[in-house]
Amino acid sequence: MICDICGNNSGRIRYVTRSYGSGKKLIIIENIPIVSCSHCGESYFSAETLHEIERIKIHRDGFTHEQSVSVAVFAQDQVNTTGIQT
Ligand SMILES: [Zn+2]
Repeated sequence: MICDICGNNSGRIRYVTRSYGSGKKLIIIENIPIVSCSHCGESYFSAETLHEIERIKIHRDGFTHEQSVSVAVFAQDQVNTTGIQT
């Protein structure tokens, strides 16, 4: 398909899982179609997909089912963003 970013016919649909919010507000949405372009390397959600994501988040009770998941919180203080210190 045509890539919205670079206009080349290099866009492919992939399906990804994204999480939004955290704690009690955490919502995980699976199988979201994302356009991934092999020409420019961009990955993006279409406007329709973003709209649907917003709709799911607003009406989450109608779309979600309870499922226990393992949640890990990345320890920010373990990461030195300026590089590895010796
Ligand atoms: Zn592209």
